[in-house]
Amino acid sequence: MTVISANNSPSPLAGEKPGLQARPIGVLGGTFDPIHYGHLRPALELLETLGLAEVRFIPCRIPAHRGSPQITAEQRLALARLATVGQPGFVTDDRELQREGPSYMVDTLISLRDDFGADTPLCLILGSDAFRELDTWRRWEALSDLAHLVVMERPGGAQSLPPLLEAFAAPRTIEDAVELRRRPAGGILWRSVTQLDISATQIRALLARGQSPRYLLPEAVLAYIHDRGLYRSPLSPTSLTS
Ligand code: ATP
Repeated sequence: MTVISANNSPSPLAGEKPGLQARPIGVLGGTFDPIHYGHLRPALELLETLGLAEVRFIPCRIPAHRGSPQITAEQRLALARLATVGQPGFVTDDRELQREGPSYMVDTLISLRDDFGADTPLCLILGSDAFRELDTWRRWEALSDLAHLVVMERPGGAQSLPPLLEAFAAPRTIEDAVELRRRPAGGILWRSVTQLDISATQIRALLARGQSPRYLLPEAVLAYIHDRGLYRSPLSPTSLTS
């Protein structure tokens, strides 16, 4: 079964070739604490250059590999919605908020497989920093049975891979994006994207100091953060004056 997204989708890759599956679904999971342009701009570039049908932004409920986020899962989801609404091909997906316990990507990919069927290519998009820690993820080797992996080079992330991941990546690495459409899963594609040295950590630190993260994230996201007084430290200047 192939599910057609309700969102508008970008035009297909030029020159349909025989033997190609449906256009791949991009999957960008994260804590999104908060979502920022370092997520959004690379996702748009991959949507367009890889001919993805859509990119699904999937905030985790409980991160499996890090400490608790500073705001609730519902707030992080709301921010992701605000950031993606109106962009054709961007979809905010709340499936991790519907599951109990830590949010494991392997469970999310199984659930997406159920929705999209066995033949639709899935592309798990992750930054090079996240890929270098992939072997700490639950059932990490199964991830490439469920999806292709598309690794976006992130500023400061140009170190070599640990040997275990090198051995995992080498036989799966593909050079040509069209390979993503020849099978539903199993390839690893490295893509350079516009390098935006932005992190949620940096944004939280600015807000905690009472400084502005403006221009690092969408205005609507910043307005929501300010309206609800999110990420403020009790001692930050903004908190003391408001
Ligand atoms: P934090 O600073 O809290 O660790 P983050 O900015 O890395 O957060 P996440 O929600 O953890 O954001 O990231 C989700 C995914 O997006 C990860 O795969 C991460 O590698 C990737 N990513 C985050 N920021 C960037 C960026 N500036 N460029 C490319 N990829 C990014």
